[in-house]
Amino acid sequence: MVHNVIIIGSGAAGYTAAIYAARAELQPLLFEGSQPGGQLTITTDVENFPGFEHGIMGPQLMQDMRKQALRFETKMIQQTITTIDTSKRPFVLTTDTGETYQAKTIIVATGATAKLLGVENEMKLMGKGVSACATCDGFFFKGLEIVIVGGGDTAMEEATFLTKFASKVTVIHRRDSLRASKIMQQKAFENPKIEFIWDTEVIDVHGVDQDKLTGIRLKNLKTGEESDFACEGLFIAIGHKPNTEFLKGKLELDDVGYIITKKSSMATSVDGIYACGDAQDSIYRQAITAAGTGCMAAIDVERFLQGHE
Ligand code: NDP
Repeated sequence: MVHNVIIIGSGAAGYTAAIYAARAELQPLLFEGSQPGGQLTITTDVENFPGFEHGIMGPQLMQDMRKQALRFETKMIQQTITTIDTSKRPFVLTTDTGETYQAKTIIVATGATAKLLGVENEMKLMGKGVSACATCDGFFFKGLEIVIVGGGDTAMEEATFLTKFASKVTVIHRRDSLRASKIMQQKAFENPKIEFIWDTEVIDVHGVDQDKLTGIRLKNLKTGEESDFACEGLFIAIGHKPNTEFLKGKLELDDVGYIITKKSSMATSVDGIYACGDAQDSIYRQAITAAGTGCMAAIDVERFLQGHE
């Protein structure tokens, strides 16, 4: 059987693409991968997704999107696509269990993964003081002291943004100079609420016994000295990794691995393959923008199929 469209990925982008493709009667097949619901399933309150006056929990939002896609007869399979053959149409997709599927078009919505520090307790306190998204969670830290780790543009942008809420923001960076652009650095340096700790790594987080972050353990990389630092929020801004490893050599990717899409569409470098959500977006990375591009990809697919049948 050749499917009209196979959607790879089950975050806000993938589910939205499925809703639109299903309502266009394309009977989409969606591969949910190993973490159905994507990044929003590891957040708590989502207060910036329009339509929910009082906010909604991330996992609930994704469950609702999933049900909405199922209601319009999307078929879902909880497997991961490991390879795709893009050399001819229909495309051939192979799952982690070795099964193959054929599709006239593909929507890649595999998202990105926020890089974490890799210290022992950070996952236990994720959503309980530890966050990888200032735009999502900054609001919950009104009047509190927070730390942000990283020295790139994201860290500077988020540090500046977080000063709207926090009483103090301390940037902890592993070197003695920032990677961020000069203008972003300058903004951060000029902000009286932002302080810097240089040449330092976070080696653990405290507060697991109280089920909320109470502080962090630091190590100065030049002297080797270790110390504790009290804080109520820890924002990790050390970069994202798009989940596109399996597409290397198949679609055009940028240096970091983000899928390159054509201007004013979600088209990739291969005709009939579209990309949406964080797998192709290093700039906005919001649930609502992922959903928006998911919708766009599905409309692109519908038009592509109309033009080829
Ligand atoms: P970057 O890769 O640019 O920066 C990551 C930062 O985290 C670096 O300072 C790096 O340190 C540090 N880091 C990486 N791994 C670790 C670790 N394990 N422990 C501690 N620190 C670590 O990522 P960004 O997300 O900041 O930016 C990604 C891209 O998006 C960039 O091209 C950026 O310019 C762009 N961007 C642009 C914005 C804008 O223009 N408004 C806003 C946000 C992002 P080190 O420097 O030592 O390598």
